[in-house]
Amino acid sequence: MTKILANDGISKSGIDALNLKGFTVETEHVLQKDLIEKINNENYEVLLVRSATKVREELIDSCPNLKIIGRGGVGMDNIDVDYARKKGIHVINTPASSSVSVAELVFAHLFGMVRFLFDSNRKMPLSGDKDFKLLKKSYANGRELYGKTIGIIGFGRIGQEVAKRAIGIGMKVLAHDKFIDETNLTLDFYNGEKKSFTIKTNSLDKVLKNSDFITVHVPKTGKESIIGAKEIGKMKTGAAIINASRDGVVDETALMFALDKHKLAYAGLDVFENEPEPSIHICMHNAISLSPHIGAATIEAQERIGEELASQIIAHLEK
Ligand code: NAD
Repeated sequence: MTKILANDGISKSGIDALNLKGFTVETEHVLQKDLIEKINNENYEVLLVRSATKVREELIDSCPNLKIIGRGGVGMDNIDVDYARKKGIHVINTPASSSVSVAELVFAHLFGMVRFLFDSNRKMPLSGDKDFKLLKKSYANGRELYGKTIGIIGFGRIGQEVAKRAIGIGMKVLAHDKFIDETNLTLDFYNGEKKSFTIKTNSLDKVLKNSDFITVHVPKTGKESIIGAKEIGKMKTGAAIINASRDGVVDETALMFALDKHKLAYAGLDVFENEPEPSIHICMHNAISLSPHIGAATIEAQERIGEELASQIIAHLEK
């Protein structure tokens, strides 16, 4: 009987699908230092992780019975994928399952920042009863998203979901992608109606110069940031940046500088350099809307991730 260790958890629907096929699933988290021993002593053949558990060469070498390594989510930077594949291990992930969740989080940050909700939610509990009028005045210059331009850098799965939502609320979309020139987006409405849009991508410069809000949805690419001081310099004064992709894609030092100099009005961050210990200066900055890497953390995405992992495991082991 195949034993599966879902070390960073898996949804109940995923467990049910695997149990139905006779596989057993353990979801109790094992510390990184004890993982090799646990896998070998209890003969696990499948290891499932999210972003917390690391699957490095040493673990791969030490656990010869592993047949599948699965990542619930997109980025596989916590797994030595090529090495595992070279050793004959099947490595899977669930790239599409959280795109809607991340795209919605982008709008949670966007709507919150243009009306200063992130800041008023910090200050109202402290002095809302005494300083109501003062706070009301300090948040008086909110902005509407309607009619503004969103610049989407990285027009893959998440970038395109962001574009659909932007179009839905009447924003203009400018997109940049290294590899995509043009794409068709179809918006599905609650009553079954559909509306399609063709979006041609633009140069990075055009997107930077003409957008009111920039959101970045590219993979982590080495040490080089995609948005640094030079790119911020090209943006409109008073614009904003959102990073819900990977740490380092936006240079945090350049971002803080631009916020302090009022080149940028605000920023939204879901990912941070040095996670899980982000800079306290970033955490305390009064122009940054913050979330602790929760882009994929919705009940719906976790269900889809579990089900997608289960069906890939079943398909592979039943081959
Ligand atoms: P995707 O592969 O579907 O899309 C990425 C796009 O970026 C591709 O179209 C690619 O051509 C483009 N690209 C790559 N390098 C580029 C560059 N230098 N400049 C411009 N475009 C470039 O990926 P996705 O599913 O949309 O995910 C995007 C990012 O979101 C990834 O980094 C992923 O790890 C991250 N993510 C974060 C969370 C979260 O919890 N915040 C959750 C899921 C995914």
